[in-house]
Amino acid sequence: MTERGLLIVLSGPSGVGKGTVRKAIFDNYNNDFDYSVSMTTRKQREGEVDGVDYYFRTKEQFEHLIREDGLLEYAEYVGNYYGTPLEYVNKTLDEGRDVFLEIEVQGALKVREKMPEGIFVFLSPPDLEELNSRIVNRGTDTHEMIEKRMTKAVEELKLIQYYDYVVENDTVNNAARKIRNIIESEHLKVTR
Ligand code: 5GP
Repeated sequence: MTERGLLIVLSGPSGVGKGTVRKAIFDNYNNDFDYSVSMTTRKQREGEVDGVDYYFRTKEQFEHLIREDGLLEYAEYVGNYYGTPLEYVNKTLDEGRDVFLEIEVQGALKVREKMPEGIFVFLSPPDLEELNSRIVNRGTDTHEMIEKRMTKAVEELKLIQYYDYVVENDTVNNAARKIRNIIESEHLKVTR
């Protein structure tokens, strides 16, 4: 029987650089695991591709999937839904491949309840000022949205205790390398 793959959950406050670190991991250590594309009701940003960055769906479509139990987890995050399609995760793990999720903190805690065997990594900002300037410099959020994201980040930092690992995002390549090392060590564990 094929050994089930590992579920790797990368989480942390919005703006900390989860997406950039995730991309660096996939660029530098290509095909070792599969990325689970999330579903969201938020507006598509310039340059984002449906089915690659997210599955962009309407609120009705999203709520339909909730009712069908089609999501491993979902969260409402600053006015929009975000969720992880369940079928892809299960199918890929069953095939013996690792699955990588990049999700916000509430969702990660829900996954922890359902799949405690997962590896939960919290990406932390060097400090809150740095986080604020990253969100501002990204230039995609209104002033009000930035304030909401920062308030949320302060709450989220209190939840680090529920994670297996904390990785500071000092530089993207450092953080990517550390996460890659974590995954490799987890594969070498005798018992899980
Ligand atoms: P953004 O709007 O910046 O793309 O994402 C906002 C937040 O939602 C980020 O923290 C991102 O990691 C998180 N997110 C993305 N996909 C999912 C998901 O499937 N589930 C949950 N719970 N959060 C997600």
